[in-house]
Amino acid sequence: MTTALDGLRAGLLGIEDLSRTEIEAILRRAKEFQQQQAPGKKSDALRGHMVVLLFFESSTRTRTSFEIAAKRLGADSVSISVAASSVSKGESLVDTLNTLAAMRPDAIVMRHAASGAPHFLARHLPIPIINAGDGTHEHPTQALLDAMTILDHRTSLEGLKVAIIGDIAHSRVARSNVHLLAKFGAEVVLCGPPTLLPTELGLLAKGVKLTYRMDEAIRDADVIMMLRVQLERQFETTFPAGEYFGFYGLRQEHVALAKPDVIVMHPGPINRGRELSSEVADSQQSVILNQVENGVFVRMAVLERVFS
Ligand code: ASP
Repeated sequence: MTTALDGLRAGLLGIEDLSRTEIEAILRRAKEFQQQQAPGKKSDALRGHMVVLLFFESSTRTRTSFEIAAKRLGADSVSISVAASSVSKGESLVDTLNTLAAMRPDAIVMRHAASGAPHFLARHLPIPIINAGDGTHEHPTQALLDAMTILDHRTSLEGLKVAIIGDIAHSRVARSNVHLLAKFGAEVVLCGPPTLLPTELGLLAKGVKLTYRMDEAIRDADVIMMLRVQLERQFETTFPAGEYFGFYGLRQEHVALAKPDVIVMHPGPINRGRELSSEVADSQQSVILNQVENGVFVRMAVLERVFS
């Protein structure tokens, strides 16, 4: 008999809970998908499985790539966005979940503005739940695809200097990346304006450093990961948005401080002229579109894992 605990074990709620071995297994499988890639070719590995994509926040890359991943593995997928669902008519999360459960999906991919929402779901439904971003907490598949993209350019994560720059306070991408990179011995430097860089983030994992200075974060970096300013989550900070680019926007002169073969990443959506200049976004060093491409392979590996 399946229990809620089995669902928790089989799903993917965060990077913090994963071991190095589990992460390596997902990355290895994603790499196999990348190498085998024959556009348009589908397998029927997950035939007969129904994946519900339940998105309470907007998404372009994550939702589409989960959908493509499910289809490439032969699974059926149904996408539910909140604006079009009964949640906008006042239905509670529990009632929505019970309704969904009655439709007997085999797994749910969920994005929600509240940190911990997928964990709540996992405690109540006996099926795998995959966290596609919960509030400011975690975005595990983003960190996995980021690791895969870094490893397309480096042989190992160990010893790499990774500068994560921007709105760290509200970023689930930063948190998941810190957990993953620290597990593999990378040096992580978090950088942003004081209002967006709470000092307690230094406690997230061993060896994480904090700085308000872009030059310090970027000097000799192997990877520069820029983050979007999450205006939709800024209830508590007052923020001079117009000045942001002047202080924390990535420009070519910053990139010149990093290692010559540095890669520039961004989880998207990017705001040119706010987080980074167009020149950098479109430069040789930018791997932003490779991240999107790898998102499909990582999500195929994750779906396969939760059904195995
Ligand atoms: N797409 C990422 C997320 O959902 C990053 C962002 O929205 O800025 O967290």
